[in-house]
Amino acid sequence: MGGKVFIFGAGASHEDTKNEKFPLPLANDFFRSEYVNQFWPYIASGVPRFCDSSLSKILSHYFDVTIQMESDKSIISGSPNVEEVYSFLESFESVYRSVSYQRNLISEAKRELIAYILGIILYAPNTDDPDFWRIMAARENKEEKKLKKIRKGYKPSKLFKIHSKIASILDEEDTIISFNWDLLFESVLGLDERHSHYFESRNNIMNPFYSASKKPLEYVYLKLSDDSRGFFLKLHGSINFAHCTNDRCLRNQFPFVIDTFDVEVPELLQCNICGSPVEILIVPPHVNKSYKANRFFQLEANLAAKKLNVANEIIAIGYSFPDFDFEANTLMRISRLDPMLEADTENFLEMVTIVNPQTSDELYVNKIKALFGISHAKKVHGHNVELKLYGDIDSYIENEIGRL
Ligand SMILES: [Zn+2]
Repeated sequence: MGGKVFIFGAGASHEDTKNEKFPLPLANDFFRSEYVNQFWPYIASGVPRFCDSSLSKILSHYFDVTIQMESDKSIISGSPNVEEVYSFLESFESVYRSVSYQRNLISEAKRELIAYILGIILYAPNTDDPDFWRIMAARENKEEKKLKKIRKGYKPSKLFKIHSKIASILDEEDTIISFNWDLLFESVLGLDERHSHYFESRNNIMNPFYSASKKPLEYVYLKLSDDSRGFFLKLHGSINFAHCTNDRCLRNQFPFVIDTFDVEVPELLQCNICGSPVEILIVPPHVNKSYKANRFFQLEANLAAKKLNVANEIIAIGYSFPDFDFEANTLMRISRLDPMLEADTENFLEMVTIVNPQTSDELYVNKIKALFGISHAKKVHGHNVELKLYGDIDSYIENEIGRL
């Protein structure tokens, strides 16, 4: 049995923080004035005001945004899609570098943009809530006794209800594939000892040579049939993953988890193997992003594919299935049976559930049907696959799990 595979996109984090002052933003929210005024000052000391930054010059020149100052606050007209802005900077720098003599401006704007995005993801969920920071710290606490105490005293009802509710129905075999950089899901998983295997297997994925097994050298290939447990896979990285910037260093490909206090100042951290600076490990919002760029992402993507391939149920929440994310689309498409495999009607995909406002859009639904092979499921899955659609997360939870 392959269990359930949950796929989480930005919509899930946005929905679960929508009552906060600053919900985790969707792609079109990042440059809204209130976000810039709140989070720009966090990006680093000594950074120019937003209106004097390289990024604001790019936005106003290439994205027709007007930026005005009014009593020390930026007033920004429009909020271009952050993926489009990042991809523009990336392509400009890597392909069209000779077109502009303002090369430093492009590089600087890209650096500012990444720091700004990370600041929002880190601080937006709950800037002032001490409980939030307590759980975050607890997640990194290796002393189990202390962790138990913190879990006992914490009232999880307050935070991240959607993520908590979904965590409550996870069986050991279920896998979570997240495209989000934020820490919502791990803070909820970290509260329940039942879920500690997700963190154990993550440590192994980060560094397979530190195996929990007594005979680590016997496991030189992926043997998922022996491991019925699920994984917690963050395919686009995370604001608390870091790796070495020196591509000749082992730590470049073997990332590690840092605590939330270090996430605020990654520029102060040094690699313990070669002494080079470290950086936060995220797959930037770029059309040509590739899991191949890092051993860790490639392994995570392969584990995701294996789990999708044997899943009984796939549930995608707040994920938009973007056309340009080719590797993610490939991942969904290979959830079907191998072309030459005889169908085993007992064990494979039975249901795909999509939870997203776009489910009212026929094009979106058709795209998903095509990706998962739902319309000709008998041929590619061995039997019919049910497709369930929910336009919002609340009605999904109410119908499938029970009231929030
Ligand atoms: Zn290093």
